[in-house]
Amino acid sequence: TKDINVQHPIRNIEHIRAFYKNFPTRLAAVRKGFNRPLTLSEKILYTHLYHIEDARDFKRGHEFANFRPDQLVMEDLTAQSAMQQFLVAEFPKVQLPSSIHCDHLTLASEGAIKDLKVSNYDNRVTYKFLSDVSDKLGIDFWEPGAGIIHQETLENYAYPGCLIVGCDSHTPNGSGLGGIAIGIGGADAVDCMSGVEWELPVPKVIGVKLTGELKGWSTPKDVILKLLGILSVKGGTNAIIEYFGPGTDTLSATGKATIANMGAELGATSSVFPYDSHMMDYLRKTGREEIVLMANKIAGDLRADKAVYENPSKFYDQVITIDLSTLEPQVSGPFSPDADMNLSEMKENVKKKGLSDKIEAVLIGSCTNSSYEDISRAASIAQQALDHGISVKCPMFLSPGSNLVKATMDRDGLTQVFQKLGVTVLANACGPCVGMWNRKNNPKRKNTIVHGFNRNFRKRNDGNPLTEAFLVSPDIAVAYALGGRLSFNPMTDTVTGKDGKAVKLEVPHGNELPPKGFARAGTGCHTATFKTKVIKIDPSYDRLRLLDPFPAWNGKDIQGLPLLIKVKGKCTTDHISPAGKWIHYVGNISRISDNTLSVADNAFQPGKLDHVFNQKTGTYDKVSSVAKSYKAANQFSCVVADENYGEGSSREQAAMQPRYLNVQVIIARSFARIHETNLKKQGILALTFANPDDWNKVQEKDRISVVGMKDFKPGKPLTVILSHADGSQDRVQVNHTYTDRQIEWFRYGSSLNMLRAQNQA
Ligand code: SF4
Repeated sequence: TKDINVQHPIRNIEHIRAFYKNFPTRLAAVRKGFNRPLTLSEKILYTHLYHIEDARDFKRGHEFANFRPDQLVMEDLTAQSAMQQFLVAEFPKVQLPSSIHCDHLTLASEGAIKDLKVSNYDNRVTYKFLSDVSDKLGIDFWEPGAGIIHQETLENYAYPGCLIVGCDSHTPNGSGLGGIAIGIGGADAVDCMSGVEWELPVPKVIGVKLTGELKGWSTPKDVILKLLGILSVKGGTNAIIEYFGPGTDTLSATGKATIANMGAELGATSSVFPYDSHMMDYLRKTGREEIVLMANKIAGDLRADKAVYENPSKFYDQVITIDLSTLEPQVSGPFSPDADMNLSEMKENVKKKGLSDKIEAVLIGSCTNSSYEDISRAASIAQQALDHGISVKCPMFLSPGSNLVKATMDRDGLTQVFQKLGVTVLANACGPCVGMWNRKNNPKRKNTIVHGFNRNFRKRNDGNPLTEAFLVSPDIAVAYALGGRLSFNPMTDTVTGKDGKAVKLEVPHGNELPPKGFARAGTGCHTATFKTKVIKIDPSYDRLRLLDPFPAWNGKDIQGLPLLIKVKGKCTTDHISPAGKWIHYVGNISRISDNTLSVADNAFQPGKLDHVFNQKTGTYDKVSSVAKSYKAANQFSCVVADENYGEGSSREQAAMQPRYLNVQVIIARSFARIHETNLKKQGILALTFANPDDWNKVQEKDRISVVGMKDFKPGKPLTVILSHADGSQDRVQVNHTYTDRQIEWFRYGSSLNMLRAQNQA
């Protein structure tokens, strides 16, 4: 890999200089508005207010605020949709520093070189599209095999005090360097790239005090696994986790990144750590001394105010203390990252919970755990195995996080240690972590795998619903590969060496940063030349299409829409747009729309999935087929839904697909908040029954009208007329939460159409 067209070793240096220069003035405005001591989260977040004069003591968890981030990062799956949408807005270039990282689409099978060759061919049109839009619009393009988005962000884009947003849920990994990094959806990314306000619910702040210091086999991964056990996967929802206390100063910057990375598993908005000497060291070793000099000038404000630390329960919504000195290695699983146990309890748990003791694959690396520190510690255990002639008891794989780490591993002989032990070194990409794993002899029975990644949901890694995955630190993962059993505890048990003698593994050791510095390596980053003028896509490639703008609303009442489906019960974004094989078609709205609502329960056809009545033909068919037949006749349709429609992930395909299929109105008992916003952005009218029992009045062959649209105003209810097949009607009142700006989105047909119109004005 090479650096292509890179002008300065520190990316976006002018922007960063301006950030540090303006920080004191902006913080003074925030202090004035809040008029009380500030947490670190508040200092960083609110110095990024879109209108700094709006600074005031926002009601955490109850209102929204508008921000302007410093940097946007996108991976190759989410970037497809984000860039297709941004192209609709017709901006000549992005308005904030942005980058695209090709990491998710790389398949893991034989090893880095062969796998990259196959993936580069397989994904060639998608990569070309992403590379072309990057060059046209001024985005850094990171080629396949260069690394994983979050490791590249930490090495190149993150800095103390920054606000990064990224189209990936583990974006908070970038918070390891004393800033705040937040995962967002593609439509939000378009707002950021367009330079308009980016809206975020004002987060709560949970304080986590770290005391003591990690010892022996315990690592930063164990801190976050422990916290997951305490707070659960919902415990951080709409909150920033702010770490403080003497223990934070004992953790490396990359260790902090690991903890922040898995804050996503808590449902947290982000995590944050006070600026310290470990961050300075990491910045220096990655060639960013100038940032250290600038950050040092505001160091006193890259931590919470003294009063906050003196009385944390007054300023944090919740305070949790973890003593690092007594923290044991943790094991979490199966199926949920908060199913956390102490390693020493595993013997008992294997029996008690009926777990499959034999470990059948071990995987390390990924964005979560592939720092030099992680790899060098893991290699120290692998070296012990080589020294004693101990072999791995199952296939083992390593996914390095970036070319910088991989080149340094190669130079320092660490890659070779793993290879001698029989470990398959995969491309610097997500691979098995995101399910892009061609697992050989994938057993069709219950089986245990162990990894140093961050998620262990059913089917996540190998698509096998019977695989039970456990999350551990890289150290424990390597020890498990040598012990071969979940009940193995390297702190008390032994493994057999080639001479037949019992060997007790020594405590792993490594280097926080490479003693000889990072190896000189090209990054694989291409900066834009703006020479690309036109984006072309091979029409024979069915994974990618450019988006056409959605049509504008005609300004009239909505009359006689056929009911497409009346959804009963839980309907997450996964029910609206299931993943699996469809992941390949996220770039082709027409193709992926074939999965729309295919696993949602139709209230009129219980037990029959993807089976709805077509009012045009009088027959039953797939949801997408019926919607397409209405669309072909220039007819919009309506979806009726139950409680909390669209909960789960924020994937916007769940809003774009119905819109593409001509669904004009969705009336629910209630909506999940993010999905409701996504629907509004795509130009769908999202309404709720004023009386939730009116959901029962909707019949299978109904025609649905929405009247009073001339008076569509914030806070003013509308009326829906349900015209039944027997000629009778029901009139029901519906509510909405549209603001003036959101009504404009609906008027224009989508928020993108409005952006485009403003851009052209
Ligand atoms: Fe997401 Fe895994 Fe890739 Fe990290 S390595 S970005 S968690 S898929």
